[in-house]
Amino acid sequence: PISFADRVLPLKNEGAYAMMKAAARLDASATREHERVVHLEIGQPTISPPPHVVRALSEALERGETKYVHPKGTLALRETIARYVERTHSLPAGSVLPENVIVGPGAKPGLVLGCLALLNPGDEVLIPDPGFPTYRAMVELCGAIPVPYPLLPDTNAPDVAFIGKRISNRTKLIVINSPGNPTGGIFGSEDTQSLKRILAGAAGRIWLMTDEIYSRLHYLSSTSNLAAAVPSSVFDDPEVRDRVILVDGLSKTFAMTGFRVGYAVVPSSLAERMEVLAVHSFGCVAPFVQHAAVTALTDSVENDAYLAQAMALYRTNRDVVLAMAADIPGCRLWRPDGAFYAWLDVSAHRQSAQLIVCELLERARVAVLPGTDFGAGGEGFLRVSYAGDTASVREGMRRIQRFFAEKA
Ligand code: PLP
Repeated sequence: PISFADRVLPLKNEGAYAMMKAAARLDASATREHERVVHLEIGQPTISPPPHVVRALSEALERGETKYVHPKGTLALRETIARYVERTHSLPAGSVLPENVIVGPGAKPGLVLGCLALLNPGDEVLIPDPGFPTYRAMVELCGAIPVPYPLLPDTNAPDVAFIGKRISNRTKLIVINSPGNPTGGIFGSEDTQSLKRILAGAAGRIWLMTDEIYSRLHYLSSTSNLAAAVPSSVFDDPEVRDRVILVDGLSKTFAMTGFRVGYAVVPSSLAERMEVLAVHSFGCVAPFVQHAAVTALTDSVENDAYLAQAMALYRTNRDVVLAMAADIPGCRLWRPDGAFYAWLDVSAHRQSAQLIVCELLERARVAVLPGTDFGAGGEGFLRVSYAGDTASVREGMRRIQRFFAEKA
């Protein structure tokens, strides 16, 4: 028998990939339209990236930007990211320096390299439950101990009182995500203040990782005011910033999931450690992709217009999901203010979320994810991604409605 390393044994795959595979199998045998699966499982926009960003990529490729570049990212991109973070977080010029930025293939490397640089076996890490599955995996990969914290049912913000009580002398890191996957919840400035107090009280012993990949995708301001700052962030306070890891990327905001480009903003000492990890793992991100990222993150009318259009689509889709879910028997609704996920409470049906999801796929031909893919706290919930086109979202919701109506 092959003996794999202990560190990979606890790791599970992301549920979305397993669901995509199962759905693809059904699609392959479908002969009629209504047998084809409607995909509401993966958190991936189906709109195209901004055309001027695609053009920038191919021009860079043709210019020959095809060699190794700096492992932390090109200076042009790191400078652009520093300005972008200052702009979106309403921070004074010079608050973020290129040396604090580390670019990676997606936001995930920022999460994983940050953990690899910080965590020793036995360290405890507070992670949201329900939360993005990579959080648990990256902690386990380091031999550290994931300590799930619940979200408050009314707001889907972290239960900060719980976090305060669960902090031990082994706690090294707290992971937060706002707007959050899978709930779409956003937490307010009071939660941010409480988290800052926890950090300040730990006298530099505890780090905080803020995953802000959905920070531009929120419905708090009108679509005409999209340049408005991201929701409140612990990163904004210079007094605790030397213990904060900000992670973001272009996958969701600019529908650039397959470009593989994201970044972390960290104190420069941590950036040096993460740079060494970058050198010995992915090496660097493709320079032509980085050039495209510069184009997307530069302050421009085209970028604002793109985002306004994307947000108008997600807002429409969200409202379609909410209106149609209101007619599902035994479904309790929660109104998301951010990201592109609806978090439907179907616990009244007294069936495991996993079983409901399997039946939805097999019988109703609609793919969604069970809340339990995001932790035990997701039992009784379904995650519906409305990142696709409105017609598909409507058709998927129609199938979910019919499925539950037949069950009732
Ligand atoms: N963080 C969260 C909360 C996500 O939902 C995702 C993607 O689904 C990521 C990070 C990963 O983003 P990327 O594709 O840029 O690595």
